[in-house]
Amino acid sequence: MDHILRATDNNELARVFVADTKELTEYARKAHDTWPVATAALGRTLTAGAIMGAMLKGDKDELTIRILGDGPLSGIIVTADSKGHVKGYVGEPHTDLPPNENGKLDVGRAVGRGTLSVVKDLGLKEPYIGETDIVSGEIGEDLAYYFNLSEQVNSVVALGVLVDKDLSVKQAGGYILQLMPGADEEFIDKLEANIGSMESITALLDQGRSTEDILHMIFKDIDYRILDNMETGFKCSCSREKVERALISTGRQQMEEMISEGNVIETRCQFCNKEYDFAPEDLKKLLDAAMS
Ligand SMILES: [Zn+2]
Repeated sequence: MDHILRATDNNELARVFVADTKELTEYARKAHDTWPVATAALGRTLTAGAIMGAMLKGDKDELTIRILGDGPLSGIIVTADSKGHVKGYVGEPHTDLPPNENGKLDVGRAVGRGTLSVVKDLGLKEPYIGETDIVSGEIGEDLAYYFNLSEQVNSVVALGVLVDKDLSVKQAGGYILQLMPGADEEFIDKLEANIGSMESITALLDQGRSTEDILHMIFKDIDYRILDNMETGFKCSCSREKVERALISTGRQQMEEMISEGNVIETRCQFCNKEYDFAPEDLKKLLDAAMS
């Protein structure tokens, strides 16, 4: 099952989140009918979103990652809460590109150049907004750059999606490591050596390594403890009732026009691609109920 492990070394100089997100990435692929490079881009961002959601402290806190590049993918939007729920979409799910020079899905080119922004709604008057340039479009690197520059937290971000021959998601996951104040050079060197000797996250998951195993590799020769194991999944909060409220809020005149035009109003949730259709008689019932 998809989950996020949260851990710290015993001196609390670093915190690490390791996530297995295969199921939620596959869910997103099916919902949006993404092609491989879009599956990888969306899956990586969903994985990061789920982890960054887990970093939020308040029950009702939420965050949105917007990666707006000039590549053929036409942007990625991911929203997550602090309870492990994440949702998202890409502008053009049917993006198709030749592999990059390493023979990998060319997420960097699909994303292109532009900006990455993170908006955190922490229940305050104003949301927190951080924005940085996209450095490679590979998403992990871009988020590490964002953390280092915008939040001033030295971070390593590793994200991966392995697409199977039948185009389904074979593996997906990632980890984010963040250094806390007081981390000394010796400690950092050790972590860097550990991470430097590891294979990619998808290679490890594909060898059957668990998130615990991966955590153990990151903290090799360092005493650590697991603080939390949180379930995560793709979940959208849209509903027919919410669409009804939005329709009603367009006003009586607008609704009467829609009814008299006699067409079925088709709406679709961008985040989960669920369709909500309203026939003229549905609209009439809604309007009557709203007016009574
Ligand atoms: Zn939805």
